[in-house]
Amino acid sequence: MFADLHLHTCHSDGTYTPEELVREAVRHGLAAIAVTDHDTVAGCRSVGEMAVAAGLGFVAGTEITAEWDGRELHVLGYFVDPEHEGLRGAMERAQDVRRERVRDMVGLLQAQGVLLKVEQVFDDGTCRAPGRPHVARALVKGGHCKTLDEAFERYLKRGRPAWVPKETMAVERALELIHAAGGLAVLAHPALNRDDTLVERLAGLGLDGLECLHPKHNRAAAQRYEAMAASLGLAVTGGSDCHGRRKNRQTMGTVKMPMAWVDRLRTRHAAGRGPVDRPAME
Ligand code: AMP
Ligand code: FE
Ligand code: FE
Ligand code: ZN
Repeated sequence: MFADLHLHTCHSDGTYTPEELVREAVRHGLAAIAVTDHDTVAGCRSVGEMAVAAGLGFVAGTEITAEWDGRELHVLGYFVDPEHEGLRGAMERAQDVRRERVRDMVGLLQAQGVLLKVEQVFDDGTCRAPGRPHVARALVKGGHCKTLDEAFERYLKRGRPAWVPKETMAVERALELIHAAGGLAVLAHPALNRDDTLVERLAGLGLDGLECLHPKHNRAAAQRYEAMAASLGLAVTGGSDCHGRRKNRQTMGTVKMPMAWVDRLRTRHAAGRGPVDRPAME
């Protein structure tokens, strides 16, 4: 019995609709899932309803893009209330910033003679959190590039002509928002930050958990993060970070989070970690 607590849908940069996501989860024999779209909780309700109807355990989540010391960090929020006004407001602002960044990228592409229109990037009405993947898809769809890789290599990577830096919220704010919305804050794919000292410093700021199992973590990394979580009193989580079908492959099913970890996460959440004025514990 395994869970996957890191999944994206077409509400951010995944390709699956909520229905397809749940169907794939069932096909892979998962017992529980969380939806963690970038900077939105828009998919939580529909995925939640379909997951429960399919007999799966479900955790409402999000993956907030944040920044610390000039570095981009991704903070997963689990058990957040998707209706929480403060969270919704902050996410709407983050989404506005993302749309503005897409407009800037398209402007730079046009200056390069690539006649792409913003409407072509935004043509998928369900996406709330557009970014480079959406620009890349529009470049391929419009025949400007053959593959997504080519779109990134030619135009979208840092240092390429259509690169636009990302403005995101401070990590302290991300933790505060997740807690205010009743959730637990978990640092996503810590190995990608290439600095493990961040974990202890974030724990000091109120981080609740660490994503130990992730496709970008080898076994040694997973064990290192599990040990780190144990010594810092952090919860452990895992997920495939599946974005749907990419290069005709998908990652769902490649990472198996034990259901016992989900139970421990639920217990921890039920014990009252999360609210802004939570008492110091442990
Ligand atoms: P953004 O957050 O808008 O800067 O875009 C980052 C996203 O682009 C990440 O989720 C990556 O998975 C995706 N990405 C980066 N490089 C590539 C690539 N070569 N092909 C496809 N997707 C990529
Ligand atoms: Fe993504
Ligand atoms: Fe991420
Ligand atoms: Zn993710």
